[in-house]
Amino acid sequence: MKQSIIQSALVKIQENKRHAEEEYEKAIAPLLQNDEYQKLNRKLTQLVIEKARAEAYNENTQNLMVEIKNLEQKIDAIKKKYSLQDVQPIYKCKKCKDEGYINGQMCSCLKKEISNTILQGSGFEKLENFEDAIKTSGNLHDTYALMQKWCKSDFKKNLIYLAGATGVGKTYLMRCMANELISRGRLVKITTAYQMNRDFKEFSKTNNEELLKNYTDTEILFIDDLGTEPLFKDVTIENLYIVINERKMKKLPTIITSNLTLDNIRDRYDERIFSRIVDRETSITLLLDGEDKRIKK
Ligand SMILES: [Zn+2]
Repeated sequence: MKQSIIQSALVKIQENKRHAEEEYEKAIAPLLQNDEYQKLNRKLTQLVIEKARAEAYNENTQNLMVEIKNLEQKIDAIKKKYSLQDVQPIYKCKKCKDEGYINGQMCSCLKKEISNTILQGSGFEKLENFEDAIKTSGNLHDTYALMQKWCKSDFKKNLIYLAGATGVGKTYLMRCMANELISRGRLVKITTAYQMNRDFKEFSKTNNEELLKNYTDTEILFIDDLGTEPLFKDVTIENLYIVINERKMKKLPTIITSNLTLDNIRDRYDERIFSRIVDRETSITLLLDGEDKRIKK
């Protein structure tokens, strides 16, 4: 993924942090003017550092802990005088306190922000709510419910193939899935087969690996409308296979929508792509034809 996307998402998260802390400082402004509070607070910081150092050297920290506790009580007493004892910075993300990372791992809030950044300008910004969709999905109810369940799963089935004619609601379902996954802190990229194919072509000219990595390495990839892209000789099928196969090997979820039946897939692409898509162990293939039934293999 482009470093700049992570950076700009991180900037947004940390703006939240700065905002929370500014508001906090405003709220406790009277305290900050209290000399006694300032003195105790400086002492507390010093002791906390000392304790961390002592712990690192496996030294006894019992006395330090008693001292810290005393100080905290004195500080609380002053806060109480100003009725500020319960005032804390209000972070948007309670998990990471708007740092974006927890123990070096991306927090779900950062992933959400990155997904949103990726979606901006993709034509897929508008996401749909599964709960609403399930209520109004009529005879597609079971398909919607199955896909919602899948979004909450551990993705043992890592390829979803949604086939059906135009207008049966494949893209709508995809928007619901993307929304559900993003709200679960997953990194989502949505592309069209057309756009991806253009990147394949660019890759074949420039050999810029980054173009392909955007598809092989992204956590969750949606490919909309497979089959509407032109077939470039030695480009489209070869790279599509690389993307699907690498993602299967890395167990990264891929969701494909298409007007093509599975037989059409075999005819248009090749046996290798077909067999990756229909793999019984790791794929789910669904036909949305208004009647809500699984594609027969
Ligand atoms: Zn967070």
